[in-house]
Amino acid sequence: MTRAVDCPVCGNTLALLERSTGDVETVNCPVCGNYNITKSSIEVLSNYNLPARRARLEHAKQNTKVDQLPLIKEA
Ligand SMILES: [Zn+2]
Repeated sequence: MTRAVDCPVCGNTLALLERSTGDVETVNCPVCGNYNITKSSIEVLSNYNLPARRARLEHAKQNTKVDQLPLIKEA
């Protein structure tokens, strides 16, 4: 079931949580696009400023194949 969330990366209030599978949540943000993020990463990213959060998403995208969603995964 889809529900509205604040995007963990950019804070956009129009983001949607599309799926929650175990520790991984799939977010659809009008600014960031579709990506996967672990629940622990959501907490970690909340301590970062916006440029740092965007950098984590860009890093995830660079490590993702074309047909896969980027996964933001913090220690
Ligand atoms: Zn976003």
